[in-house]
Amino acid sequence: MILKVLLVLLVIGIVYFMFIKKKPLPTTKKDENEKLESNDMVQCVSCGTYAELGETIISSNKYYCSSQCVDKG
Ligand SMILES: [Zn+2]
Repeated sequence: MILKVLLVLLVIGIVYFMFIKKKPLPTTKKDENEKLESNDMVQCVSCGTYAELGETIISSNKYYCSSQCVDKG
């Protein structure tokens, strides 16, 4: 019976998708404690400009876009 074959295939499909879903996806929500990536944008506390994290200056746990802004505070 073709119906029986389809039913078996359906069951295999369900089991297969359940197995796939169990796998942790790489695009899971970021953990709050996770460190920021270097290409993430951060706001300069002095002038408000957004800059890439890798290009910012971190002074007393605050982000600055340039040394001039660090001097300004
Ligand atoms: Zn700035």
